[in-house]
Amino acid sequence: MVKLLLASRNQHKIEELQQMLVGLNIEVISLDDVADMPVIEEDGKTFNENASKKARLTAMHTGLICLADDSGLVVDALGGQPGVYSARFAGEDADDRKNNHKLLQMLRGLEDEKRQARFICVIAISDPQGKVQTVEGTCEGQINYGERGTGGFGYDPLFIPEGYSQTFAELPPEEKNRISHRGQALLKARSILEKVTG
Ligand code: IMP
Repeated sequence: MVKLLLASRNQHKIEELQQMLVGLNIEVISLDDVADMPVIEEDGKTFNENASKKARLTAMHTGLICLADDSGLVVDALGGQPGVYSARFAGEDADDRKNNHKLLQMLRGLEDEKRQARFICVIAISDPQGKVQTVEGTCEGQINYGERGTGGFGYDPLFIPEGYSQTFAELPPEEKNRISHRGQALLKARSILEKVTG
């Protein structure tokens, strides 16, 4: 079995990606299984730059095939914020609760039509020589007026995907994974993975 290293320390992302990779002939490991991996600064201006950098540097450092996910929430009424800054929207010491409260505050008073948003995920896959391929997945939806649900992570309690009345945090994990930005990106990544893992 070929090893695939998930270049992330976000346990929620790792769990979702692991669930989606079931059935492929791949042994999935994460950065928790790698000693001495330097922290990689996410200083890109786009999801693609960040995902590619994480995948390339991790693959070249470890000599393993790597998959990196860079993702975030893009809100139309905020000119695309928080975007690549989704994890640190409420500042360097931000957590999910603070980020969600800031988002609700900034959208206060806006009616349904102005609450459109989408999650975007870029998945980058790098071979040990640093050759990177990327795919992108998107999930359209709306920001709710308050937090609902206990599943998922990040902005899930605020995000209602198009065609649903529940938030991502209220949907069963399999359903979120099926329609989510990450799920869509991984669907596209499967053929790349099949080739690079031979
Ligand atoms: P990254 O680790 O720089 O890619 O930051 C990702 C951030 O985007 C997370 O910390 C969340 O705030 C947000 N995010 C990405 N994917 C999701 C998701 O599936 N649900 C909720 N929030 C997400």
